[in-house]
Amino acid sequence: MDGTFNENDISHIVAADKAHVWHHLSQHKPYETSDPRIIVEGKGMRVWDQNGKEHLDAVSGGVWTVNVGYGRESIANAVRDQLLKVNYFAGSAGSIPGSVFAEKLIGKMPGLSRVYYLNTGSEANEKAFKMVRQIAHKKFGGTKHKILYRDRDYHGTTITCLSAGGQDERNLQYGPFTPGFVRVPHCLEYRKHEQDGAPVENYGEWAAEQIEQVVLREGPDTVGALCLEPVTAGGGVITPPEGYWQKVQEICDRYGILLHIDEVVCGIGRTGTWFGYQHYGVKPDMVTMAKGVASGYAAIACLVTTEEVFNLFKSDPTDKLDHFRDISTFGGCITGPVAALENMRIIEDEGLLDNCNAMGARMMDNLNAIKDKHAIVGDARGKGLFCGLELVKDRESKEPVEEAKVAAVVAECAAQGVLIGAANRSVPGYNNYLCFAPSLIATASDIDQITGTVDSALTKVFG
Ligand code: PLP
Repeated sequence: MDGTFNENDISHIVAADKAHVWHHLSQHKPYETSDPRIIVEGKGMRVWDQNGKEHLDAVSGGVWTVNVGYGRESIANAVRDQLLKVNYFAGSAGSIPGSVFAEKLIGKMPGLSRVYYLNTGSEANEKAFKMVRQIAHKKFGGTKHKILYRDRDYHGTTITCLSAGGQDERNLQYGPFTPGFVRVPHCLEYRKHEQDGAPVENYGEWAAEQIEQVVLREGPDTVGALCLEPVTAGGGVITPPEGYWQKVQEICDRYGILLHIDEVVCGIGRTGTWFGYQHYGVKPDMVTMAKGVASGYAAIACLVTTEEVFNLFKSDPTDKLDHFRDISTFGGCITGPVAALENMRIIEDEGLLDNCNAMGARMMDNLNAIKDKHAIVGDARGKGLFCGLELVKDRESKEPVEEAKVAAVVAECAAQGVLIGAANRSVPGYNNYLCFAPSLIATASDIDQITGTVDSALTKVFG
């Protein structure tokens, strides 16, 4: 490779990728005998690879990000105009797009009032954890510093975010971890038989009470925050059981525990409301979001808090803890809020929340029909346009299918021109979820193409 690239010389590009690029979350051994997929173009719901093959993207850019679809000229133009006006200034100063987007965002989040700009979901969660620790020092002499997180939830890739990670397959090789993070049980009703003492009725309340048990065991005076996904995403599309969130809110109120909701996946429309927590009537103290905020047109994440939390970071400068001594060079970089603002306008003007609800309902109907047809499907779950199928060898025992079979379904769908996702492929026993999260612009025929392809791939792999 001499570094001179002709964009049209695809074999050169593929060779350069194979020689020099280290892909995220990927085994590279297979690329000794095959080529990685290189995405060359995107428009609407579809992307094209290096061979000109068209794919219907049922996972919004692979990790549920491109909520308004590909090729949005208005976002590209807004970003370009801003770059020419002023491309950057540190987040210690304000910016016009930063102010306008913050006001607009807060308008969608009653009860919350402050936006802290960042780049990624991990970063936003990490900053929230830092805030909890600072509050513990400032208000409680350092004692109320523990952060509870839930089995199967994921909050990001840094060592501290992994310390709050409930997906062991991502954690095993990276310890030792940051102390002060404590796990609470998952709330996946379909697998309640694996949880000691889970009742037949009122599972949601019981699952929330398990959190209270952990609070009592650790000591309420030591627990500063509870961090939860509203609908667990990568941990297997876990929609919360009836009564769960109401009880969670009661527990947080009773013990003075800050409720931190991780909306990195669900935020900005993915589940049919602006935020996932808004389905369940809870009042978070802190909310983090990233992926759909600008649909991948710019890197932006936000940590949004109540005024009460904010005020804990505002005091006389003689106080050593008078402010949040934190910065991120690119957090809030001006193009982020510009893209986010236009992204939000598109969602509103095109009625994409309504579309998400309508298409999500259609997808769930189709997935339930697939479940009726294929014994291999144990459960179909979802909220808005975030849905999944859990594959089991046997509906009685609920034993998960082999990882290789899940990979074969994903590969067969890709061969048929539809990109779908699988959750937790690397965990034996918990690699058995297929995920679907198409852009919020999906039409009925897109949804039918996705589920029709899944149906055919399941027949091909499992008979
Ligand atoms: N939180 C959740 C719920 C996620 O699913 C993810 C990423 O998939 C993250 C946080 C981390 O976000 P990022 O990859 O932008 O750091």
